[in-house]
Amino acid sequence: MAIRWVYVTHMKAILVSQTGGREVLQYVDLDTPKPGAGEALVRIEAIGVNFIDVYHRTGLYKMPLPFTPGSEAAGVVEEIGAGVDSVKKGDRVAYAMVRGAYAEYAVAPADKLVPLPEAIDVKTAAAAMLQGMTAHYLSMSVHRVKSGESVLVHAAAGGVGALLVQMAKMRGARVFGTASAKHLDIAREAGCDVVIDYTKDDFESIVMAETGGKGCAAVYDSVGKTTFDKSLECCGLRATLALFGQSSGTVPPFEPGRLAKNGVFLTRPSLVHYTDTRKELLWRAGDVLDWIGSGTLKLRIDREVPLRDAAEAHRALEARETTGKVLLIP
Ligand code: NDP
Repeated sequence: MAIRWVYVTHMKAILVSQTGGREVLQYVDLDTPKPGAGEALVRIEAIGVNFIDVYHRTGLYKMPLPFTPGSEAAGVVEEIGAGVDSVKKGDRVAYAMVRGAYAEYAVAPADKLVPLPEAIDVKTAAAAMLQGMTAHYLSMSVHRVKSGESVLVHAAAGGVGALLVQMAKMRGARVFGTASAKHLDIAREAGCDVVIDYTKDDFESIVMAETGGKGCAAVYDSVGKTTFDKSLECCGLRATLALFGQSSGTVPPFEPGRLAKNGVFLTRPSLVHYTDTRKELLWRAGDVLDWIGSGTLKLRIDREVPLRDAAEAHRALEARETTGKVLLIP
């Protein structure tokens, strides 16, 4: 009988087999995936850690088990599947919103991969994609910030927050930013005109006093449970209230009639809604990477953690310890 050799290559990855605490982030050997039609295999050099990874780990957002967490990375295209012409082997690329990034290799739909400009290194790209494009769609599309108007950005020293503050300033707005005491300097550095310690001071009365009772044209709220009620009160005439996260917990049910006070537009957007086409993805990623490359937009990388210590990265995020991006390095 002829012997048939089957070569299976392995990679290191994080696997979650049951949801729960940080201990469920297991560092294991898995088969390296193969790209199918329309897909590319990326050798990952840096992985962006996001709060949503914690929600997937704990089960707040449901995922089919077992799964490899993470949805943001950058690296080099190793292999392409049939019919792929948007990238080729050897291209440096980055992506967001594709599951399975906590690994040495990942397969992604080729049309979700963004080729990197010369000026951008892979770590910067992995750090910039998700939070940068989020700040972009919030300031350019959910509410297109205009010169001279007031906007309120919660968690202004966080990853999305600090980028959003900078983009709102680039568009000429007056920016109110909230943060906890130890983060106030970072919120100020990001460009906030008024910084408020929302763990101590009443941000609603400060915003209303500073705007002469008019309120803001947009309120960007990623904190949720602890801020939502007062965020609504800070909304001016026909303002947009963008609830785009819930770092402090989910917002309890509320009476929609409350929106009637100023004809407020309430939305709960996600990056997937605003990177629906390749054209839109390349526009947002292109702007973000160009602005970083030219120094217009400053990106903070808080720390780099080895992939095997993914639990430590989650600990830092959950402890509210980080100011800027946490990267995992395979
Ligand atoms: P970061 O970890 O960088 O920043 C979050 C900040 O939120 C913290 O630094 C902290 O700042 C503040 N915060 C307030 N209350 C809490 C709490 N109870 N626990 C932890 N942090 C708290 O996160 P990101 O900037 O990456 O994301 C911010 C939020 O936006 C998350 O909820 C995330 O899920 C969401 N998001 C939504 C997207 C979308 O498209 N809808 C896309 C990307 C992110 P401080 O101590 O100064 O208050």
